[in-house]
Amino acid sequence: MGNPLCLGWQSGRKDLDSRLVATLRAEEPTTANNLALLYDLPMPVSVESTVLTFEDARRVVEEHAEKISPPSTESVELLVAAGCVLAEEIFADRDIPPFPRSTRDGYAVRSADLARIPATLEVIGEVRAGEKPEKIPAKVEPGQAVSIMTGAQVPTEADAVVMVEYTSRNADQVEISRTITPGENIVPRGAEARQGSRLLGRGVRLNEAAIALSASVGKSRLQVYRKPRVAVLSTGDEIVGLKSIPGRTQIRNSNSYSLAVQVLHAGGQPILLPIAPDQPQRLRELIEQGLQSDLLLMTGGVSMGRYDLVEQVLTELGAEFFFTRAKIQPGKPVVFGRCGARAPARAGAQRQSGTGQKASRKTTYFFGLPGNPVSTMVTFELFVRPMIEALSGQLPRKLAFLHARLKFEIRVKPGLRRFLPAVLSGEFDQSEVELVPWQGSGDIAAVTRANCYIVVPPEREQIAFGEWVSVMMR
Ligand code: AMP
Ligand code: MG
Repeated sequence: MGNPLCLGWQSGRKDLDSRLVATLRAEEPTTANNLALLYDLPMPVSVESTVLTFEDARRVVEEHAEKISPPSTESVELLVAAGCVLAEEIFADRDIPPFPRSTRDGYAVRSADLARIPATLEVIGEVRAGEKPEKIPAKVEPGQAVSIMTGAQVPTEADAVVMVEYTSRNADQVEISRTITPGENIVPRGAEARQGSRLLGRGVRLNEAAIALSASVGKSRLQVYRKPRVAVLSTGDEIVGLKSIPGRTQIRNSNSYSLAVQVLHAGGQPILLPIAPDQPQRLRELIEQGLQSDLLLMTGGVSMGRYDLVEQVLTELGAEFFFTRAKIQPGKPVVFGRCGARAPARAGAQRQSGTGQKASRKTTYFFGLPGNPVSTMVTFELFVRPMIEALSGQLPRKLAFLHARLKFEIRVKPGLRRFLPAVLSGEFDQSEVELVPWQGSGDIAAVTRANCYIVVPPEREQIAFGEWVSVMMR
């Protein structure tokens, strides 16, 4: 904690104009102090560096996420609710199942009749799924059976269902070649849920199972949380939009798009801001715009380079930083903090309230993610996702890892927890995992070939072929 990380220029003056930025770029590497003297700028401010281990950084995010109160709610059609977060409790409107349900096609019997096999029973009727209750035989005497279908109500006096595969029918007689235990192939009334019991609670992300459960209790509309608005701001002088033809040294903006997809998958609503140049004034404008959302994600400009201005601008805006580096790879220069957002100006508000009164401010969390595309994707999964989940009203959950055997040895420098793009393959208990060859964290093509990340603990220098490793799915 407390190492000066990068240097910039204090606010309280006009930000660097483009002429000056151009001049600075032409400069040989020089210290910020020299530049300040040269151009009569105020002296630089230092941004404190807080470097955390992966576990500590993740814990910090989780602690902040836990304190976030859920967003406002709205009522939507059942299918529109898919992927949303439930904001109400769902109760069973009746016992589930509402009758003792046969799980097989076969014969409803009294199990005691099959103590000795083969046994021949008299078939006294048939029950189909949805059979009218008055048509279901009220009595099944010893020595009798009822032909029954999957999903049909088992007559009261029968206590088991023999699968049709173990029977042989001859007119009104059925011969049964297997014994059976009481209750076999029957789900008793109310065994899945009792009438009035809670089936789903607030904070559940509605997948197909939760939608089906809601449908099963007759909910055609659901109360869900509104999705948080997540501003995405890509920074960098070399970054150009998709409609531009990039110059030889320019790079097309891909991070805004990978982030937008990840935001959608995590349950947020992405808002893509224009690309910010490495120029303090415009960067500041766009950061301030982004802080109006529920969360601001920035990429690029958080490394140690001379034009990495994101932290500097945030410092000038009075941001609080929880960490500015994590001991991981890819993704070391990852920043997490929060900053007051200026309340959007209301027409006439200034005149009414008079001068000198501070506009009310909301505080917005932000992440400064590294610009390298794979680092951006990995740091999103590790740190941003829990925040979006909390902002969307989801219950907190821990990161999940699988284990698989390593197909080829890994050698790395120790000190960082690594999340390396990899392919998990093999079936059943044959799962194995291998690294994808890559050119480092700028290699988007490599990560498209990966379906997971191998997690290398910071103390490991070498992991042998055949060892079990942790795998994070993507
Ligand atoms: P930075 O974190 O700004 O030092 O950027 C690190 C690397 O990521 C550089 O090679 C950038 O060109 C690249 N990069 C930064 N932002 C983006 C973006 N939005 N899309 C694609 N690549 C980017
Ligand atoms: Mg940059």
